[in-house]
Amino acid sequence: MKLVTFENGSSARVGVLDGDLVRDVTAVDDSLPTSLLGVVTAADGVLDRIRQATSAAPAVALGDVTVHAPLPTPTGDVIAVGKNYPDHAKEFADSGFDATEKEVLPSHPIIFGKSGSSIIGTAAPIVSGNDPTGTTDYEGELGVVIGREARSVDPANALDHVFGFTIINDVTARELQSMHAQWFVGKSPDTFCPMGPCIVTADEFGDVGSASLRTVVNGEVRQSYALADMIFDIPTVIATLSAVMTLRPGVVIATGTGPGVGIGFDPPRFLRPGDVVDVTVDGIGTLSNPVV
Ligand code: MG
Repeated sequence: MKLVTFENGSSARVGVLDGDLVRDVTAVDDSLPTSLLGVVTAADGVLDRIRQATSAAPAVALGDVTVHAPLPTPTGDVIAVGKNYPDHAKEFADSGFDATEKEVLPSHPIIFGKSGSSIIGTAAPIVSGNDPTGTTDYEGELGVVIGREARSVDPANALDHVFGFTIINDVTARELQSMHAQWFVGKSPDTFCPMGPCIVTADEFGDVGSASLRTVVNGEVRQSYALADMIFDIPTVIATLSAVMTLRPGVVIATGTGPGVGIGFDPPRFLRPGDVVDVTVDGIGTLSNPVV
């Protein structure tokens, strides 16, 4: 099931994507949560109730609604993994913007935060003016949504704690990332975390290892990589985090980007007003954002 947060005139609410339609499930069952955070944190059984409501739910054309980020306010800031693909780690090391690490390939997952206040939905503009250094870059990534509290979980059981998957563009102000050796500032300007267009439930998405991701800027393919190339896979990342912290339902993890970001080019190809960035993951859809 593909779940969206949408709005068409009244307040934002949960819908189910059905091709080019959105099924307005809360219109036929007003006991359903009205936010996807409410769905993710609800007791078991809520997905079955949404499924039951879908067939009778009124359909609205996707083109007639505003699709927000599926989780505009997730649980905490977005947790992100750095340098999690070998070829991206190499291009980052070669770019001169990596002020933090001596080693090219990390021996342990690199984890950083990305402010929840930077989240926007598909079609909303990335405001490049929020990066005063003019070095705004894209990073297409798979996003993981935690659905069941995770603490000290074994990698073998880690995927049992995943509610579903989304797409994240980990937009980055490269000069700020380099200046403030910790990455939080360079990763967190307002609008620098496009997320969406939907959350695909884990049962429908299936095997992460068989999916691929493409980032297209102004129609030109910049990134095209297999999610199977992650250095630290999703079970390892969840196990690593949950060894020391409680991952509560609604936590979002951006799992790292592959090669082909703007600083991988010589000279770097930063985003400029007028650009459009599309990130597509098989089985989820396309997250599309203009740059202003
Ligand atoms: Mg990233």
